[in-house]
Amino acid sequence: MIKPFEFPIYVTRPMLPKIDNVLSKLSDVWDSQWLTNGGPQHALLERRLCEILKTPSVSLFNNGTNALLVAIQGLRLAGEIITTPFTFAATAHAIAWNNIEPVFVDIDEETMNIAPHKITDSITPKTTAILAVHVFGNPCDVYAIDNIGKRYGLRVIYDAAHAFNTEIDGRGIGTFGDVSMFSFHSTKLFHTVEGGCLTTGDLSLKTRFDLLRNFGIKNEDEVILPGINGKMNEVQAAIGLVNLGLLDEERKKRSDIATIYKQRLSTIEGIKHCELPNNVQNSLQYFVVRINACHFGCHRDRLHERLHEYNVFTRKYFNPLCSTYSCYCNLPSASPDLLPVATRIVQETLCLPFYGNMGTDNAEKIMDIIESIHHNPTLSV
Ligand SMILES: *Cc1c(COP(=O)(O)O)cnc(C)c1O
Repeated sequence: MIKPFEFPIYVTRPMLPKIDNVLSKLSDVWDSQWLTNGGPQHALLERRLCEILKTPSVSLFNNGTNALLVAIQGLRLAGEIITTPFTFAATAHAIAWNNIEPVFVDIDEETMNIAPHKITDSITPKTTAILAVHVFGNPCDVYAIDNIGKRYGLRVIYDAAHAFNTEIDGRGIGTFGDVSMFSFHSTKLFHTVEGGCLTTGDLSLKTRFDLLRNFGIKNEDEVILPGINGKMNEVQAAIGLVNLGLLDEERKKRSDIATIYKQRLSTIEGIKHCELPNNVQNSLQYFVVRINACHFGCHRDRLHERLHEYNVFTRKYFNPLCSTYSCYCNLPSASPDLLPVATRIVQETLCLPFYGNMGTDNAEKIMDIIESIHHNPTLSV
């Protein structure tokens, strides 16, 4: 009989630098007496992120959702935007807040990202863009999607909230499409407490994004766009800069945990993880498994409940599908008949605890527990 964990094991824990390192960085900010509106920490973080994300430009924001709102606004989109139902609420909401109709398209069985061959069927004269999501950091079929964008004259936006450091053939994920959004929320691998950014290769677009995040103020005498307050402040940027120093170690620890999870999962029937192609660098943002209830012995929801009894808190991301929210479920594209793969997969996925400090011993124990649930799904602790 396996004993429950004494303390809760959460799905994630934020990367936390030593407080002394934060305080010494903050004292630089205090000395400068410059707290927001594009100070030195902000400028330095934008530069550092260009290198790390391998993108020509970075525009910082106070959170990822505001960044996404500004991306859509900055591209002057209207009408309909094609997107995935299998994502966090912010993706669809950013479309709706721009007074645009989200058009949901089904996902691919393996990557769980929007299925490119189903996008073209949903294009209408009102379509202006595709907003695809690299869900769990697995890259979309960016070559196919960028091609569809070119062929049909549509803008392509990627929600790369989970894809910090994801690369394809050594190329930064944020260089695909017209613009990509990254989130630096505390639950994301790299964080600034709250924060986010846009990356684009089109520098005139970057200028527009930067104006829109600061009320559209061009200079002391001119306001030229209907902007919002999307600015990242100096305290956020300073914490981000300190966190950059922890990134390599966090990734190494997560990678060790992933190795154990993968090894152990290979011997349990009915539960599998997502395998990325060899040319893709993993963001190590989530460790997601898929449960086949027949072969595993119980439904995903039951496994989630049983793990909870052992003080292990997993998450059923991204359940419920955006297309089932009361604000979207009456849209023609939201019918479950049109979204069979997403409707099935959303019942199968479970995110396991995944953060550096949980340690490999705890990863082994979580696998012991999953193995015992597999053998005895009905038993309770
Ligand atoms: C976290 C997240 C966002 C929003 O980011 P915030 O920084 O929390 O506003 C958007 N899309 C996806 C897929 C996310 O996971």
